[in-house]
Amino acid sequence: MTFVSLLGRLNATNYVGIGVFMGLQGYYAPNSVDEVISLLLEAANESQLAKLLAGGTDVLVQMHSGLNKPDVLVNLKKIKETNRLEINDREIYIGAAIPSAQMQEYQNLKTLLPGLLEAADLIGSTQVQGRATICGNLCNASPAGDSIPALIAAGAVCDIANKDGGRQLQVEDFVVGVGQNALEPGEFLLGVSVPTPSSTKKDAYLRFIPRTEMDIAVAGAGVAIAFEDNKCVEARIAIGAVAPTARLVERAGEALVGHEISDETIENAVAACREAASPISDKRGTAAYRKKVVGVLIKRAIKIAESRVREAA
Ligand SMILES: Cc1cc2nc3c(=O)[nH]c(=O)nc-3n(C[C@H](O)[C@H](O)[C@H](O)COP(=O)(O)OP(=O)(O)OC[C@H]3O[C@@H](n4cnc5c(N)ncnc54)[C@H](O)[C@@H]3O)c2cc1C
Repeated sequence: MTFVSLLGRLNATNYVGIGVFMGLQGYYAPNSVDEVISLLLEAANESQLAKLLAGGTDVLVQMHSGLNKPDVLVNLKKIKETNRLEINDREIYIGAAIPSAQMQEYQNLKTLLPGLLEAADLIGSTQVQGRATICGNLCNASPAGDSIPALIAAGAVCDIANKDGGRQLQVEDFVVGVGQNALEPGEFLLGVSVPTPSSTKKDAYLRFIPRTEMDIAVAGAGVAIAFEDNKCVEARIAIGAVAPTARLVERAGEALVGHEISDETIENAVAACREAASPISDKRGTAAYRKKVVGVLIKRAIKIAESRVREAA
């Protein structure tokens, strides 16, 4: 069975084929947050591995290759809260079931968070984006997950559901290791909330891959900056694919805040990012190469975010 046919089956009502093929003991598509929590707690009590299913573009591939063998799969697509995409003056809320393709249909989202939207638009192909969610990308916790540095730069907060009424966690604290997130048993990610940026704040995301598309980032750079009277008043800078987790580089932001953007301030931010990077060497590039590339991307992303602010003024 190919990945494409698996995705096709998810749109059908009969999931028996997947269950048999994957060795699942249970597949559920609940309608409420409480039901999801109960299913997760029940599985934990019975020492079963439960996995959430959003778009399935990671989890099904991992099951297919034997990397992941859940006993129970819980689909999040039928829950009202996970399908919420709301934009108001205070926050932008993106529910856990919203695929990248749906995000791209909101022109005001593109205007407010162009960097996050370009990160989501880099995930896989058009077909993959029809299912892939940024929350799935975040929960999968790959060091190279494209949406993660962009979410960190945008100041996104994880809205976590649990039996005690939920909790909030900054995205930079959510991914705790390669493939590991901060969710406890019985918890899942309901969505992410981003403070609505003012018109003088813009973001940008860039990644480098050895091919032209459909590859894993060698390095990624997420930047969000705000200006007042030509001076940078806020800057969040995050790096991806150059450490076990995407990282917020506070010193890079500090290098910009209080100054006009100049070659010197950008170089200071770049130096901070290179210092914060602790990449591996693999077939996509050596550690030294990744450090070099992440600096180049940060420099370009700062300039793009800055030009977006100027264009919006
Ligand atoms: C061909 C192809 C190309 C790809 N290209 C890229 C790329 O360029 N960049 C990139 O970053 N990724 C890429 N990916 C990986 C994948 O598409 C993304 O990570 C995607 O965003 C995952 O989202 P999903 O909704 O499909 O997650 P799923 O596969 O549904 O879930 C991913 C993981 O997160 C867990 N999970 C999902 N939602 C929740 C939740 N709400 N709460 C708790 N846990 C949850 C699942 O149990 C699973 O472990 C690619 C994948 C494919 C197949």
